[in-house]
Amino acid sequence: MSEFPNDGAFASLPLTPELLANLDSLGYRAMTPVQARSLPLILAGRDVIAQAKTGSGKTAAFGLGLLSRLVVTHFRVQTLVLCPTRELADQVAGEIRRLARTLANVKVLTLCGGAPLGPQLASLAHGAHIVVGTPGRVEEHLRKGTLDLSSLETLVLDEADRMLGMGFQAAMEAIVAETPVDRQTLLFSATFSDEIRRIAGGLMRDPAEVAVVEAH
Ligand code: ADP
Ligand code: MG
Repeated sequence: MSEFPNDGAFASLPLTPELLANLDSLGYRAMTPVQARSLPLILAGRDVIAQAKTGSGKTAAFGLGLLSRLVVTHFRVQTLVLCPTRELADQVAGEIRRLARTLANVKVLTLCGGAPLGPQLASLAHGAHIVVGTPGRVEEHLRKGTLDLSSLETLVLDEADRMLGMGFQAAMEAIVAETPVDRQTLLFSATFSDEIRRIAGGLMRDPAEVAVVEAH
């Protein structure tokens, strides 16, 4: 995209000085290929479907996008990240907290199956800006009325291939139905399939597609 000249440096992107300083302190010296290809689109507000292998920095790609949109003074759930497993949700929440550590008071909450409901209900009552969770448990909170997604700005479907493989399609669709239609939707996956493209077509608005293929 021409709006943001891209030379591989995070500083070429319209990120706040706080985020840039934090990336430096985290030792993130340059964008990974999937970050360089997807971040300009994400920061421009596009829906993006991105494929890159495991370990290529997909979390920071969507994490920097959602943190750039976040209004901390608006204490409502503005971002939901759906992950296939509790372990992956914990990793994503940890990476978002690291990326956000120089921003004041960003509240990240995980809502995963296999964890007791009581503490989740207490945390939800206190409020959060960003929820990271597994589809089954997030859908359960929506059914109970304990999670409100009416102020959602960004929906991230992380490891979408695995979520579909685990039978989460119905839960994902039920969750999407509870979010505003004008949200930004980002889909990340290690693999693309026709099924993912079909589902993305139903959930996303004119998504830009980014695929980072390894040269061997
Ligand atoms: P993926 O989701 O693609 O499997 P992750 O988001 O988990 O990959 O990132 C893999 C590792 O790379 C993490 O430890 C993360 O902190 C690190 N990382 C991400 N982006 C950068 C970067 N630009 N520079 C250095 N390390 C990075
Ligand atoms: Mg990942």
